[in-house]
Amino acid sequence: MTDHIPAASLAAYTAGDPHQDPAAVWAIEVHLEGCAGCRGLLAAQAAPPLRALLDDVQVRLDKGVRSGPAPVRRRAWRRRAHRWAVWSVIPWTVTVLGAVLAAFLLDREFPERPSLVLLLAPVAPLAGLAISWSRRADPAWEITSGTARAGLELLLRRTVVVLATVLPPLAVAGWRLGMSPALWLLPSLAFTAATLLLGGLVGVSRAAAVLAGGWLLAVALPAIATSNPPAVIAPSTMPVWAVAALTGAVLAGLRAGDHRFG
Ligand SMILES: [Zn+2]
Repeated sequence: MTDHIPAASLAAYTAGDPHQDPAAVWAIEVHLEGCAGCRGLLAAQAAPPLRALLDDVQVRLDKGVRSGPAPVRRRAWRRRAHRWAVWSVIPWTVTVLGAVLAAFLLDREFPERPSLVLLLAPVAPLAGLAISWSRRADPAWEITSGTARAGLELLLRRTVVVLATVLPPLAVAGWRLGMSPALWLLPSLAFTAATLLLGGLVGVSRAAAVLAGGWLLAVALPAIATSNPPAVIAPSTMPVWAVAALTGAVLAGLRAGDHRFG
């Protein structure tokens, strides 16, 4: 636009003349957005009380910004910690450690019964996953979900923390009971991968609930009730678990776009 706003139109606009044509007002505003010269004229035409008020506000804002309290600095380690976990996983951690310890003690007392450590291993990480990826458990979820890192990357970081919490006690229990590490590790990883994959479709919390509930009802409870070790966690099934874990992890990675917070 080469023509500037005629002085009369600008004066009518500045005065807020109610008889102005809306299309003309719109044209003036479009021109003002792109023309510093006319913006200067507009500012110069503003009524003196308005200019005084604007100056006053600007001075006070400047003063307020300079003399106000310094921004609260969060400690770097706390900021980093939130990238990996939420504090609400602590009660869950205590529960899981207690459950593994109880399962270990019972297994040691009753070695002829199906191993509770093995029945617990596949579902042990799931509650942690559900909590670390839930808007109910994370007070900062709105901020978290608004960041560019929200999505599979953040979920994977938290998954790493969950596994790092759950796998060592299972490892110790398995070692003290003389089990092959594959027996508890592979089902655990397969269920974790399946939760991530299914979580992309129905939400991580729901996926964890469905998978954990299914495992408990279909495998763990019948095994405990009948005292027969479940056929699905025998050494011969370990290659199947390994393939399931790998496939689940690859598919979860391919479906990374599915993940939204909550
Ligand atoms: Zn202009």
